[in-house]
Amino acid sequence: MKTIKTKIQDLKHWILTQNSLTKASDSRRSGMVASLLMLSFGVATAFGITPGLSTGGHGVTPVIEDITRTQLSGVATPGLYVQQDSVHNGDTLASLLFRMGVADQEALAFIRDDKTAKEIFKSMAPGKPIRVQKNTSGTLVSLRFPLNDKDILRITRVNDHFEATIAPASETKQLLQATGTIYSSLFAAADNAGLPDTVTRQLTHLFSTDIDFHNDLRRGDTFSVIYEAATDEFDQIKPGRIMAAEFVNKGQAYRRVFFSNADGGDYFTPEGVGIKASFLRSPIPFSRVTSGFTTERFHPILKMWRAHKGIDLAAPMGTPVEAVANATVVFAGWKNGYGNVIELRHSNGVDTVYGHLSGFVRGLRVGEHIRQGELIGYVGMTGWATGPHLHYEFKINNVQRDPQGPEVRRYLRVSINVAGHAKNQFLAATAPLIKELNAIRGTSTAQANFE
Ligand SMILES: [Zn+2]
Repeated sequence: MKTIKTKIQDLKHWILTQNSLTKASDSRRSGMVASLLMLSFGVATAFGITPGLSTGGHGVTPVIEDITRTQLSGVATPGLYVQQDSVHNGDTLASLLFRMGVADQEALAFIRDDKTAKEIFKSMAPGKPIRVQKNTSGTLVSLRFPLNDKDILRITRVNDHFEATIAPASETKQLLQATGTIYSSLFAAADNAGLPDTVTRQLTHLFSTDIDFHNDLRRGDTFSVIYEAATDEFDQIKPGRIMAAEFVNKGQAYRRVFFSNADGGDYFTPEGVGIKASFLRSPIPFSRVTSGFTTERFHPILKMWRAHKGIDLAAPMGTPVEAVANATVVFAGWKNGYGNVIELRHSNGVDTVYGHLSGFVRGLRVGEHIRQGELIGYVGMTGWATGPHLHYEFKINNVQRDPQGPEVRRYLRVSINVAGHAKNQFLAATAPLIKELNAIRGTSTAQANFE
């Protein structure tokens, strides 16, 4: 059921995408048509095979028509079908191809013998996608299979023989959009809007200087996001950077737009005011403070009065912990009381400490450079802890300060404005994104009704 749910979300996502790609307002209608076509294609791929269809001589042969080609381009080759599936546990290449309706001994023999083609046997891990093109009698016309993250094996029938090549995957970049309304939590709303986790995290970072995601969220808050994504040959979407976003919190709208500049680019308000969190407000975007910063408190385990020179953030076991700013790892290991702990060194004499972790991100080592927002470890209850939480310290020149206090707050915000000649460039470059944000804003009501 989980897969099906995900697929349905993908479909909703695609519908939004297709609308977003329709730039001119008078072509809304054609955008809708494109959405519907994508919907049919999506349903077909999502549920894979059409059982019960058989072609004589080969037993049950699942068949699926390549709806994309047929309806979107209108240049389908008659009798040619595309099917996508994935490697299941215990699959052999023969069983996998049989399930996809390929009955082609010649092709199997080629794949077993050819030096390039036989690479497929080394990478037949469960879950890997495979796409074949075949004709009505089950003859293989082409096959695509990802050998690793980068390389795709392609096998193609050329007249009376096969050719195999290994080459990098091709990706198409596009802008996707999502919009949602918060009813229970940002997590739930983002999930419902089909927003990938990495994009939701970017969203919380973008607005962390204006919105305290621990305390400020209200039922009815809305968000709209336009983000880059690359789609690979297997229709798998790799989400990238947010290009524009709006968050409406307690009736007030906040907006950010990305603008490329000499430093690689940054986020600004639509008016060109740069708002950059030099430090994230919290290493866990959604959590609440269960124990504040004090110079004295009664320690629940030590049963004595002791200073608590950090804050405790409640979060479930295993919740990802993020670096609050670019840093170098100065310690990652066990310390009495802290349990598994990470210490990061930032610029300007600031260090941050993350205690009671259940574990570290794989490969984390002392001396390593970490970027703001990067995962470093997971919430746990190692050391002196009565339940899962993160103990977080913020040190300025080696003295712990209250992470929610005034000394720390000034580290949270840095502004660099776009001015002069760059301002015109900025306005021209960001206008289409702002226009699109305005357009999708209206759809959040529809989204709410849909729920
Ligand atoms: Zn603590």
